[in-house]
Amino acid sequence: MFDFLFGLLTRDMGIDLGTANTLVMVRDGGIIIREPSVVAMHKKSKKAIAIGSEAKKMLGRAPETLEIIRPLADGVIADFDATAAMLSHYIKLVHESPGMIPKIPKPKVVVGIPSGVTEVERRAVQGAALAAGARKAYLIEEPMAAAIGIGLPINESSGSIIVDIGGGTTEIAVTSLGGIVVKKSIRIAGDEMDEAIISYLRLRYGVLIGQPTAEAVKIEIGNAFPGKKEEERYAVIRGRDLETGLPKSIKISSADLREALTPVVQQIIAAITALIEETPPELVSDLLNRGIALAGGGSLLRHVDLAIADATKMPVWVADDPMTAVVRGTGKVLMDEKLLERIRVTGGLR
Ligand code: ADP
Ligand code: MG
Repeated sequence: MFDFLFGLLTRDMGIDLGTANTLVMVRDGGIIIREPSVVAMHKKSKKAIAIGSEAKKMLGRAPETLEIIRPLADGVIADFDATAAMLSHYIKLVHESPGMIPKIPKPKVVVGIPSGVTEVERRAVQGAALAAGARKAYLIEEPMAAAIGIGLPINESSGSIIVDIGGGTTEIAVTSLGGIVVKKSIRIAGDEMDEAIISYLRLRYGVLIGQPTAEAVKIEIGNAFPGKKEEERYAVIRGRDLETGLPKSIKISSADLREALTPVVQQIIAAITALIEETPPELVSDLLNRGIALAGGGSLLRHVDLAIADATKMPVWVADDPMTAVVRGTGKVLMDEKLLERIRVTGGLR
């Protein structure tokens, strides 16, 4: 009863603490925050001075006294202070936003975290959420949240497979009967694609570009599998000529990007194949029927679904709005008392 009344007043929230992006959804309010998972910290005092896009703008431009950190970049908590600062910043921002009645009850929070996070780190994240003003804090592994977010039938006895290609990690999980049966998290995803583009252009054209340029060109003409010939596209990029040290513009094609990105996509495919091999045979035929669901920003790479389908000989589909799958999942969990209870008892949904 109290919970019900609290629910009407508080802004319970679901948070996707991603390696690249943090998203926050409030009950009945939709997604209200979508920011890069970046924190700018004073090196000495360890105080956060900027969080989100403001901090991201400082990447590669900050003075020595500041440290620009992506605290979860590798799917583990590399910097706990920065992670806690980020989490509490958003919880406070939502809980204490203008227009809210002062002293309203504290919110209930569901946080999606990368599945590689250790038990100790989990407890630390939970503690940070409580310290930031959460009344209750529940943790859910991101692939599970993504599966719920896109509406896979996780509670059925048949198996489903989800591949969430994020910035720092690709998380693959097979779900059945409300839990994860087998899972894998690899540190190969969007960031690695950017790196592959950088090294390809250096070796092939002798031109050095930075990460933001690599990411932009990946989004513009990146692809993982050949389409029709007339689909070939081009982009002009500016970098530094390694021979002269001076700026240089070059025109590159989508075929260039395919060549650069294929080895990265192959590693993702190898992980998917390995996980299917570990999946109990009874579930494998379900996977074949339902196909592989893709989520995360990396699933927006053009034709990545075709590359995976070609290699695995399985149907593959990209979820609607794949970058919000996890946060929508945390939002659904927030409203599902049964799921919340299971998370409370087991210390996390996985
Ligand atoms: P995380 O959950 O790890 O925070 P996201 O799901 O937010 O990550 O995905 C971020 C990654 O998706 C980044 O590497 C970004 O470059 C990549 N990305 C976003 N849009 C596209 C696109 N259209 N094509 C290819 N990659 C994309
Ligand atoms: Mg994610």
